[in-house]
Amino acid sequence: MRTVLGYLRPFARRVTIGVAIKFTAAILELALPLLLARIIDVYVPAGDMDAIWKAGGVMAVLAFSAAFCNITANRMAAWVSMEMVRELRNDLYSRTERLSCAQMDRFSVSSLVSRLTNDTYHVHQMFDKLQRGGIRAPMLVLGGLVLTFLQEPVLALVQLVVCVLTFFTIWAVTRRGIPHYTKAQAAVDTVVRMIRENASGVRVIKALACQEQERARFETANASARHTEETAGCVMAAANPLTGFFLNTGLVLVVVVGAFRVQEGRMAAGQIVAFLSYFALIQNATLGMAKIFVKISKGMASARRIEEILQAPTGQTVRRSEAVSGAELGMEHVSFSYLGVEKELADADFTLRKGEMLGILGPTGSGKTTLVSLLLRLYDADEGVVWVGGRDAASLSREDLRGRFGVVFQNEALLHDSVYENISFLRGLSREDVTAAAKTAQAWEFIQELPDGLDTQLDIRGANLSGGQRQRLLIARALAAKPGVLVLDSADSALDYRTAAALHEAIRRDHPGVTLVVISERIASLREADRILVLEDGVITAQGDHTHLMETCGRYRRMAELQMGGAAT
Ligand code: ADP
Ligand code: MG
Repeated sequence: MRTVLGYLRPFARRVTIGVAIKFTAAILELALPLLLARIIDVYVPAGDMDAIWKAGGVMAVLAFSAAFCNITANRMAAWVSMEMVRELRNDLYSRTERLSCAQMDRFSVSSLVSRLTNDTYHVHQMFDKLQRGGIRAPMLVLGGLVLTFLQEPVLALVQLVVCVLTFFTIWAVTRRGIPHYTKAQAAVDTVVRMIRENASGVRVIKALACQEQERARFETANASARHTEETAGCVMAAANPLTGFFLNTGLVLVVVVGAFRVQEGRMAAGQIVAFLSYFALIQNATLGMAKIFVKISKGMASARRIEEILQAPTGQTVRRSEAVSGAELGMEHVSFSYLGVEKELADADFTLRKGEMLGILGPTGSGKTTLVSLLLRLYDADEGVVWVGGRDAASLSREDLRGRFGVVFQNEALLHDSVYENISFLRGLSREDVTAAAKTAQAWEFIQELPDGLDTQLDIRGANLSGGQRQRLLIARALAAKPGVLVLDSADSALDYRTAAALHEAIRRDHPGVTLVVISERIASLREADRILVLEDGVITAQGDHTHLMETCGRYRRMAELQMGGAAT
């Protein structure tokens, strides 16, 4: 809560002024019933029209001023809470960006998204309501009770009891209702997710003719959303009627008890009217307080979730290490595990010199992407040393690593933007560089045929392109900044053999000094490599060049013969 509260500090002056204005308004509001009682009890019996007009005029001015003050203060409160939550969201976003991949895994992307959206919203609500009512409501309740106690203790006691009852009833009802609303929100999220999945998988659903099953799945989710909403509604249904009930009961009690007191000659009739006004005022303020308490409890829970991110230790430390190696890329007895349970990479050992090509071959889940992620220092090795550019990767900061690599990962997404922007990728590259990269990536031909060439807008996820076209754009993106090391993780899976071969040739021709790391299912894409790693279950079971592996690795030879027949040797 501390950290989030700190965001209010720059606005302390405004908040203080706003609260002072609210304070003034509350005093004005509290004075109104007093004047009313005076008119009824003193001026009306005396028939003093002049005084009645004057007092009425003063009341009108007070009421108007109170409204004006409240509007001004509410606007200030809205501005402050908007502004501070904007700051908070900014910091949260940049902190999220700087989380390491391991931290991302731990928090999960969807939870990060909901912290950025839902939780900042609840914090906003909390600060907004606190500024609007945090002073005003308790002041009206307290001030109202004190004023009425001074005038007529018995009647004031009646009010106090009704108020306390109202507060706890509403508080209890709302507290019970909130978890149901949270569940309902989650259920709606599921429905939304399903709609998105179905929309993006619509072709598969149609092709496999499983629309019926899909509809049934949706209906189940929809029904569950309805059910939780209904439960939430059922609990909350009590809130407003109960409030009305307490208000009416209170009013009746004030009139009845007041009538007795007037009969006994202990109070004037006009005071009953004043009490009725006070009661309505106090009752409303009590309700406001109960609601503020609910907002606070929600807001604090959200603030804690936000602080978890803000206070998360800065992702990766940069170790000092003077160790050097002749390897441009390499590993020395490297082991790594995502969750500390199973080793996703065990005792990996290889070296690659500048300008050489590394090929990685292995079935899905064998640790190919993991190995590459360690080279990019997306994760840190648990044991051993990862070499990048002749230095220990753990001694390289993100700035050192940035710009060194060009990467295409599996299942990478395109932006809903122009072809140019997808290749330049927010780096502001020149159109010449982008065009050159597109040519090397074998993408220029089809880009030219698009309606607006480089300026053609892509649909979300590049849905208006074929799989192979998307892959070539991603490769162009990786090449565009002329990286020293190019990593292609299964980037040729959707390319035909001829295009893949042309691509590899073009990369060699246009980027002569580049160090290449290629993950591929295809022996043809790997056979030029200076070193090929054969991975199985996180273990490098064989390594060497094509000729060497053909002779020594049965598994490799069988795959090569299967794919290339006689051309393998
Ligand atoms: P490949 O790229 O060879 O298909 P990966 O390197 O992606 O394989 O995955 C290797 C193993 O690590 C798999 O068993 C996979 O389930 C696991 N794995 C991959 N990414 C993560 C992650 N972020 N958290 C936990 N386990 C992971
Ligand atoms: Mg992979």
